[in-house]
Amino acid sequence: MVTVGELFTNVKALLKSAGIDTYRFDAQCIMEDCFGARLPVILTNSSAKTPDDVLENVRAMADKRVSGKPLQYILGQWEFYGYPFKMGEGVLIPRPDTETLVEKVIDYCKENNLESPKIADLCSGSGCIAVTLKKQLPKAQVFALELSDKAYAYLNKNAHLNNADIHTLKVDILSGGVADSFENLDVIVSNPPYLTQTEMDELQTEVKYEPEMALFGGNDGLDFYRQIPKLWKKALKTGGLMAFEIGCGQENDVAELLEKENYINIEYTKDTADIFRVVSAVKKEDL
Ligand code: GLN
Repeated sequence: MVTVGELFTNVKALLKSAGIDTYRFDAQCIMEDCFGARLPVILTNSSAKTPDDVLENVRAMADKRVSGKPLQYILGQWEFYGYPFKMGEGVLIPRPDTETLVEKVIDYCKENNLESPKIADLCSGSGCIAVTLKKQLPKAQVFALELSDKAYAYLNKNAHLNNADIHTLKVDILSGGVADSFENLDVIVSNPPYLTQTEMDELQTEVKYEPEMALFGGNDGLDFYRQIPKLWKKALKTGGLMAFEIGCGQENDVAELLEKENYINIEYTKDTADIFRVVSAVKKEDL
């Protein structure tokens, strides 16, 4: 017999021995998911026998975690900005860093009294940016564009799950025709793939499970920043905001690419780890 308390201890030990630094947190998430309750509640019955089906589920999840699979894919759901998002292989896992980008857009809309801004989220993935913006700015008109079949399925699921009335499109945002089909956007927001070839070669085990298509930004990681400011300029209103999430140390390169396309008011925003995570700029009046 394995008691509830023993099970928690065993799972923690197993994950720890597999070298998982966040073993306690991961074990807690697995327990909570399988028992359907919060840990303090589960542990009030710590000397009770673990039901067989729960035991099997916990063990199966712990084994997957030991093999390196990200916790978010194992649980099948993850939180971003307080909202739930369905997760699985084929879709980028939302990072807390991306909340900095979402906040930049919300602040811009509030500062400029944009009641019902028209927003396009390029490379939308799970939809964490587009859905959160719609929840925080309920009158906004939000378009979420994603190319991958798998990610697009999650994007739609997540819009539905959160009751967010956004427009989803399965398209290649780097195709000129797509950019040209938009006009008068107040905001273009994007967390594009931005890892360099060197970073791709040195990915952490967990990140290797994530789609290369959502991570790899070309040799120097800048491919999308090179193309979006140019391709999407016409779709943006004069005075409209273009806001990017960027990788560590890319701020100067991205700013330069925006300047080259005549964007103005370039701003950098740091994330909670004190790293420049967002570069934004405004479209200059066409003279
Ligand atoms: N933040 C991700 C990472 O560091 C990369 C996401 C992206 O390329 N947009 O793994």
